[in-house]
Amino acid sequence: MELPILFQELIADCRTRIRVLDRYEIERFYNWVQSQPKIETHVHLEAAVDESFYESRLSTQLRGGLLPWKRAPFQNLRSFIEAWVALSKGVRTLSDFEAMAESFVESRRVQNIRYTEAYISPADFSFIRKRFSISPEIFEFEAVISAYIRGLKNALKMYPDIDVRLIADSLWISKDDERTVIFEGLKNISLNRDYSDSQGHPLVVAVGLGGSETHESLNEHKDFFNSVRNLGYKIDIHSGEGGDPKVHRLSVETLKPDRVVHGFSGMTENFLFSKNLVMCPLSNLMIKTFQGQPEEHPVFECLKKGYPIAIGSDDPLLLGNSLALEYSFLHAVTGEGYDIFEFTQKNARERVLAPQVLRRLDKYFRC
Ligand SMILES: [Zn+2]
Repeated sequence: MELPILFQELIADCRTRIRVLDRYEIERFYNWVQSQPKIETHVHLEAAVDESFYESRLSTQLRGGLLPWKRAPFQNLRSFIEAWVALSKGVRTLSDFEAMAESFVESRRVQNIRYTEAYISPADFSFIRKRFSISPEIFEFEAVISAYIRGLKNALKMYPDIDVRLIADSLWISKDDERTVIFEGLKNISLNRDYSDSQGHPLVVAVGLGGSETHESLNEHKDFFNSVRNLGYKIDIHSGEGGDPKVHRLSVETLKPDRVVHGFSGMTENFLFSKNLVMCPLSNLMIKTFQGQPEEHPVFECLKKGYPIAIGSDDPLLLGNSLALEYSFLHAVTGEGYDIFEFTQKNARERVLAPQVLRRLDKYFRC
């Protein structure tokens, strides 16, 4: 397959400063990654389906503007969030969530991503939609998760060699009363067998924290996380996605997450949450949360030092990337993509939040 223009331009830009692999070698590696059975531990379900899913659902008024998936690269996180909100308006009924989950699993199958721990954003379609008057269709938090799970169960039944577990985003900007709604929803979900697979393993395994990092309610988030931990959920947060390294450090030290995504901004102060970190370099470059040259992205230093990081694609529909393209970027710059793939995939497998589920798929990952 032809590498996307945006990706080719990024590589061409690197080539003006450093030696990078030629296009033929990058394409060969890309195809190899696509063919490999692999796992992904950071991606957002809503932005990891084909554009065809949203094309038919977006209103005509939005179609007049620039489609959300044609906007990358973004000027900043804010303009990315605007595209995210525009995209989310395509979801109007509970059955859209079911169809989205099915479409997500289908895209996993096409990419040979056997196991995924995926973020979902039920809050965006419930109280956030209401709070910012984004769209007239307001859903109950728990009803959204329930619809995602119905779709997921249908799709996983069709593809028994693929598995997906969910991480419910509780959002950096959520308020006390909103977190109460989230807690009640998560409590019901943890108690209901319908939200588990046939072996009794829960389909929602963790609670996330996404959007712009803010310390407005850090201690409240901490209390909230302690209470959801008691329900059996792990904690997986977005932090250190650019911005002040001290903010990132304080977030991690206060919230004590099981996994962090991005995390690179701490490196200027010698702080890295390396025990379970997922990095998404192309995402950081496309949203300009990392503002240096692409080849200077901290992911390269982490790999050189052997930190046990994993790689994720974040929001492939909006960013024009994919897991295979993230790896292809690392290969283009280092020439060591095959080793990086083995290393980071192993790191990811050893650090999944639901190891008992991954074990069922072990046979695909035996070296
Ligand atoms: Zn993310």
